[in-house]
Amino acid sequence: MPSYFIKTLLTTVICIFSFTASVAQNNKKPKNIILLVGDGMGLSEISSSLYFNDKPSNFLRFKTVGLSMTSSSKELITDSAAGATAFASGIKTYNGAIGVGIDMKPAETIVEHISKTDVATGLVVTSSVVHATPASFYAHQESRRMYEEIAVDLVHSKIEFFAGGGLQFFRDRTDGQDLIQQLKDRNYEVHTDALPQKISEKKQAILLAPDGMPKMSENRGNFLTNATMLAIGQLSKNKEGFFLLVEGSQIDWGGHDNDAEFLINEMIDFDKTIGAVLDFAKNNGETLVIVTADHETGGFSLSADGINYNKIVASFSTTGHTATMVPVFAQGPSEELFDGVYQNTKIHTIMKQLFDQK
Ligand code: MG
Ligand code: ZN
Repeated sequence: MPSYFIKTLLTTVICIFSFTASVAQNNKKPKNIILLVGDGMGLSEISSSLYFNDKPSNFLRFKTVGLSMTSSSKELITDSAAGATAFASGIKTYNGAIGVGIDMKPAETIVEHISKTDVATGLVVTSSVVHATPASFYAHQESRRMYEEIAVDLVHSKIEFFAGGGLQFFRDRTDGQDLIQQLKDRNYEVHTDALPQKISEKKQAILLAPDGMPKMSENRGNFLTNATMLAIGQLSKNKEGFFLLVEGSQIDWGGHDNDAEFLINEMIDFDKTIGAVLDFAKNNGETLVIVTADHETGGFSLSADGINYNKIVASFSTTGHTATMVPVFAQGPSEELFDGVYQNTKIHTIMKQLFDQK
């Protein structure tokens, strides 16, 4: 055998070996995924966490960043229902749709999909738990406004831990059903006054406001971070891993109100929760953290105060949503998959693949 052939072969073997080794390392799969959605959180909203907070922004901790195109099936500008259905079910659908396609037929959600392999699931939000973003992860309804029907879907879902507002849709219903009792019958511990002090063996239904949770300026306190860490504490006991949705729901509401102070207070609260989640993930080593938005709200901008380039004025161009791309931040095993510019549905595709290959 000519010696050059051996050398080539040897080199090839070494190359294949080192290639395989590096792929194996880069392709380490997460056991858990935490998806944090800042509703209405575009780049200016995120940037406000640099300028209006006395603590360093937790967004500075990410190395992997992508951009997500947010339009829905029919509209250039999405709403939160179609936006969340894209994350949950991987489809572009019409504005207002909760877990259904343009044919209004149910589309399997990631929660339903991974529950088949006993991955634990949870959600923590500052809206009501039946609001569009969380609803799209467990419900199938033609309209986001069908709150009572969505609440029934939550009771029948596999979600083991949920926290937010929305008590009226379970307790004071037009059809007279007592969903609080139904939750208890399904082995949920129900909390309506305060977060539980410690982790329990039982499933958790935490409903601390009639509809949305109070604003930060109305003394919501540390609810979002505390409920998120409680959820992580409980769900991480599951051997098969977990999926947790966390939503900073009211960043969007500040945008709709064109109320910069409202928006920024909610943004800083969300940033704090991201910090706590990143701390957990760093210690845990098996958790992929994804932070993104369904769309931007308000056409929020951080402009100069006239000719004074040392003073920022926060302003808005609309009371609705906008079409700008939104960032996607990722950290943890397989974070590199979130590099690039892509449709919002790709976030679903990647999460599903990672759970399937786990
Ligand atoms: Mg929302
Ligand atoms: Zn909105």
